[in-house]
Amino acid sequence: MKFIKWIGGGLFPENYTCGLCGREIFGQKGLCAKCAAKVTMNDGATCPVCGRKTATDSLCLECKQNAPVFAKAVSAIVYKEGGTRLIYKFKRGGAHLKDYFADLLSGKCAQFSDADGICFVPMSPKDKLKRGYNQSELLARALSERLNIPVLEGALKKVKKTAQQKRLTRQERAENLRAAFKADREVVKGKTLILTDDVMTTGTTAEVICTELKKRGAEKIYFVTAASVEYIPPLAFNPIMA
Ligand SMILES: [Zn+2]
Ligand SMILES: [Zn+2]
Repeated sequence: MKFIKWIGGGLFPENYTCGLCGREIFGQKGLCAKCAAKVTMNDGATCPVCGRKTATDSLCLECKQNAPVFAKAVSAIVYKEGGTRLIYKFKRGGAHLKDYFADLLSGKCAQFSDADGICFVPMSPKDKLKRGYNQSELLARALSERLNIPVLEGALKKVKKTAQQKRLTRQERAENLRAAFKADREVVKGKTLILTDDVMTTGTTAEVICTELKKRGAEKIYFVTAASVEYIPPLAFNPIMA
C-alpha cells in the first residue's frame, strides 16, 4: 500500500496542480479558480443533525421524522456539479484529494473533540487491491493527523460483497448492506467514534454501519464525509409553495 501511496503522491504533487483538472497552479493548494467556482462548499444553512445543505438552519424533515443513529454529521462540499466530479476523482486515482477534504473538515470536526477514535467505511480487501486504496480510510488518516485522534485499526470489516444498489428501494438497500459490515466489539465498545465516508446520499450506509457499531457497544458516533447531497424538502412542505 505504501508503494501505491507513493506513486499517487508523485503523480499529483498537491502544491502544483489543481486537484480537479490537473492544471498547474502556483503558490496555493487545492483547486484552480475555474474549478473552485464549480464546487459548492457545504457551508451556510445546514441541518444541525445530518449536516446536509438546507434552505434554513432548522432540522430537515427526514431528521425530524426519523432521528439518525449517528449523533451529528458534517461534510466538506455539496455532492453536485464540480463536487460530484471531485468525489469521482477522489475514488479513482485522486488519492491526494484526502488533504483537500481533511483541510476543509478539520475546523468542522473541532466540535467532536470528545471522540476516542476514528474509523472508516471499509472496503473488501479485493476491492481495495483493485482501486489501490480506500478513500474513506485515507480521509480518516488525514483527519487523524489534524485532529490528533487515533484511527482505530480493525474497528470495521467488510465481510460480504454488496450487490448493485442502484435499483433497490431504501429498505432493500439496508437489507443488502446489513450483513456486509461487521464491527469489532473489542475495539469499539464504550467509545465515542468519528466514522468517515466519501459521500452521504441516502444515508443508508451510515445508518447500517452506525447501527452495527452501536450493536457492538459504541457509545456515540459522529459521521464525517467529504461530500453530501443537498436536502430538498418535498414540495408539500416547502413554505414557499404552501
Ligand atoms: Zn482546475
Ligand atoms: Zn437532517
